[in-house]
Amino acid sequence: MKVFACGDVVPGCGRTFSAADEDGILTQVAAHAAADHGLADVPPALVEQVRSRILAG
Ligand SMILES: [Zn+2]
Repeated sequence: MKVFACGDVVPGCGRTFSAADEDGILTQVAAHAAADHGLADVPPALVEQVRSRILAG
C-alpha cells in the first residue's frame, strides 16, 4: 500500500490518498487536482514532486 498527503505538495490541503501502487495514487491525485486545485492537467514537474513524496503505508 502506498500513501500520499496532498499537503506535502500543496500547503494547506488536507487531502490524503492511499492505493495499491504509485499509479493508483497518481490517478486519484490527478482527479483531485482537477476538481479541487483547478489543474486540468498535472504538469510533469508536479508528478515528480508527488512521486517523490509517496510513502509506503
Ligand atoms: Zn490537494
